[in-house]
Amino acid sequence: MSTSGYAANSASRLAFNSEMNFDYGVAVEVAPGVRRIVANNPGPFTFKGTNTYLVGRGDVAVIDPGPDDETHLDAITAALDGERISHILITHTHRDHTDAVARLKAYSNAPVLAFGDTGKERGARTTSPSGKAFVDLDFTPDETLRDGDTLEAADWALDVIHTPGHAPDHLCFALRGQRTLFSGDHVMGWNTTVVAPPEGNMSEYLASLERLAERRDKLFFPGHGGRIEMPQRVIRAYLIHRKMRESAIYACLKNGDRFIPQIVPKIYSRLHSKLEPAAALSVLAHLEYLVERGLVQCEELPAAIHSAFSIPRP
Ligand SMILES: [Zn+2]
Repeated sequence: MSTSGYAANSASRLAFNSEMNFDYGVAVEVAPGVRRIVANNPGPFTFKGTNTYLVGRGDVAVIDPGPDDETHLDAITAALDGERISHILITHTHRDHTDAVARLKAYSNAPVLAFGDTGKERGARTTSPSGKAFVDLDFTPDETLRDGDTLEAADWALDVIHTPGHAPDHLCFALRGQRTLFSGDHVMGWNTTVVAPPEGNMSEYLASLERLAERRDKLFFPGHGGRIEMPQRVIRAYLIHRKMRESAIYACLKNGDRFIPQIVPKIYSRLHSKLEPAAALSVLAHLEYLVERGLVQCEELPAAIHSAFSIPRP
């Protein structure tokens, strides 16, 4: 399957790269020693599907097993011709990345490594009954990872970078010597990352973007969508985009809006109805960050989708 082209979002002035050449269920070498298999779980939050990466030859690290899908698991195991899975790595515990963990572990007996418990409230603060379904609350890794850890095999090494914001347990993995980073759902080329409180946190998300901006990577492989070349440029565009969105939300409050449902249609033009709850949560994330800095007040804390917001009088 192949799609191509850039879709410009006029409201945000961000150019998304929707170019991605792939076939479901086929492992393709996307960089030296890096293979990618795209799972067939496309959707408004997963783009074409979840990317599973195989790092190295011989001893192979699997980054994000993906959804619990027979064909996808078969594709992973078929790609490993005489090789061994040495690590199962999890960027974050959302179901589109972790549902295949149990079966892949049963097949390989490899340890599952992830950040583990963050001690923070998980899920989205939403009235939607499906709002919490994407977090894998029962997930427990065999070994926990922390920022600064390094994982090694004979022909590869991955540095662990904790990047909370989309999820509190989100990790990126940097492939040593190749200036290549597996960015999970923290940075994706096809769309902006969902930051939905309390699972998502805007100040953490921006700090995590700044951390990657300080690095010198030349290539990102995201959890969804194609490779990101010139990632520093993409990160800068995302930082500017969030600042613009915050200014637009602040302007709504200045003009007398007090509630998120008033603000959403002014910020997002031509929004797909399926994405409305996510848009409302994204506005909430920005408002939380404004409240944190004392620029906006909210009578109800923690703030919720139906809370009233205002600018404090000087
Ligand atoms: Zn995802």
